[in-house]
Amino acid sequence: MLNLLEKILDNPNFNETDKALIQRTYNAAELAHRDQKRLSGEDYITHPLNTAYFLSELGLDATTIAACLLHDTLEDTSIKPDYIKQEFGQEILFLVEGVTKLGKIEYSPNQPNKKTALENINSLKKMFFAMAEDIRVILIKLADRYHNMETLKSQPKEAQKRIALETLEIYAPIAARLGMGRIKGQLEDMAFPYVYPEEYTWLIKNVLDKYTDRKEYIEKTGPLIKRRLNDAGIKVIDLHSRAKYHYSLYQKIKRHDMDPEKVFDLVAIRIIVPDIKSCYEALGIIHKHYKPFPGLIKDYIALPKPNGYQSLHTTIFCERSRIVEVQIRTPDMHDHAENGIAAHWAYSEGGKKKVFKAEMKETKWIAQLNQFLQEMKPQEGIEKVKIDFFKNRIFAFTPKGDVKDLPEGSNPIDFAYAIHTDLGHTLKGAKVNGKIVQLNYNLHNGDVVEIIKGKIPKPSSDWLRMVKTTEAKKKIKAWFTAEENKLKESQGIEEKVREKKIQKKTRVIVEVVKKGTPVIQGQTGLMYKIAKCCNPKLGDKIKGYMTVNQGVSIHLTSCSNLKKATGKRLLSASWSLRSK
Ligand code: MN
Repeated sequence: MLNLLEKILDNPNFNETDKALIQRTYNAAELAHRDQKRLSGEDYITHPLNTAYFLSELGLDATTIAACLLHDTLEDTSIKPDYIKQEFGQEILFLVEGVTKLGKIEYSPNQPNKKTALENINSLKKMFFAMAEDIRVILIKLADRYHNMETLKSQPKEAQKRIALETLEIYAPIAARLGMGRIKGQLEDMAFPYVYPEEYTWLIKNVLDKYTDRKEYIEKTGPLIKRRLNDAGIKVIDLHSRAKYHYSLYQKIKRHDMDPEKVFDLVAIRIIVPDIKSCYEALGIIHKHYKPFPGLIKDYIALPKPNGYQSLHTTIFCERSRIVEVQIRTPDMHDHAENGIAAHWAYSEGGKKKVFKAEMKETKWIAQLNQFLQEMKPQEGIEKVKIDFFKNRIFAFTPKGDVKDLPEGSNPIDFAYAIHTDLGHTLKGAKVNGKIVQLNYNLHNGDVVEIIKGKIPKPSSDWLRMVKTTEAKKKIKAWFTAEENKLKESQGIEEKVREKKIQKKTRVIVEVVKKGTPVIQGQTGLMYKIAKCCNPKLGDKIKGYMTVNQGVSIHLTSCSNLKKATGKRLLSASWSLRSK
């Protein structure tokens, strides 16, 4: 156990002050948790210690490590916020409180009742608010979750499934969106057997031997490829095989008719070369020796994924004509692909501290999601949030190369609204990769989308059914509401003119009814008569119908004659309390 602390402290980037801080927070946490045990029977301190070790491996700063060691003290021990502030300062207190406040997100996919839905939204709000303030809060939370997943087997059965599902639905997607590919993959793989035991068993049974077979194949061909690159003067820092994570492999097999043979990147060859120039050179050499599979060459160096991922991908007919995916990247790109946002903060650049606010391009979505959550009504439920922010994302480009990321299943309408509201409203057609497509075309990763604009804004109400993103839906609805209001305004003016004419031409004959007087469009004193067909009585729900020259006839709302009436002639009506 102490070993782990020594490992944390044994980091060349930490100076004496850093080390002293970590040691002091460790002592405080150890003392506070002293008599507590984990469900596994281990001392409680093993949990914060493992969590802190995880973050130190990611290269995070001493403040984060210190806060991480204390992350459960406010909730589970007698330590008070004032004490943390006094002993360790405001920044560490902020982080510890941030993690504590996140609370639990009880994710129940089947029948979320109103109360849990509300609590979920509130927890999510807190989480993303904290993330927008300081991204390290969520990194501590992810590390916390990682260790809880590692020790999941000591939890009771129902808790196992709930925690694993949360991990799959909330935490892994957050890691993915932060570009933390390794942690995302590992969290998913730890959760997979608990959430989908049958599917997991199927995968292991049907695919595992293929893994081994392909790994062996790459172990044999790897040195050959390396020699070809070396012969061409390209330095290869590392060449290894990368087996796809189980859960993401399962997802992919599902998309390929459950046929593992159709998944080419089951095991990929990964080549690490010193710089960008060598990446392209290596790609050239590989294509010289092995024919590339058409349509599968991807340049994520020139066009990075929204979470910052960079690499060259190609799928080749390799030795003995076997189809293999090859990924080529620099060490820096590799670090980013594995650790994402955490790579930004590693002490690599001269040990300088960096900004932890979510202001980078890769984390813009946090601010967006934060705003979205603040605006949304709790009863709208977690599903919407899930679709927009946690579902698999695809990214598409404008003709100028700007990238937009959208949930899977988005179409050119979503894309247009994601760029600009007006572009959405004036959308008339769209080209994808140079070809005209239908507006319900499902966008794919890497598509270049050109929006064809009409002269005037003219969204169609059909779009409401077609779009995937809440943003587009909201904007289309807003347009129609605005149009309706304009229409009502102009109708209101017409009506007033018409009412005045009626009042002038005919004396206002008010039928004397004991039952009361109808108020029509908020006004009394209009000429009206009670319709004979349905004969409404005081207290009935009523509506007015503007006749051609007999004023307004008052019907029951349910009257069948009204159903034939056109909307423009229908007027709201209710009974006034005083009778005339
Ligand atoms: Mn914890």
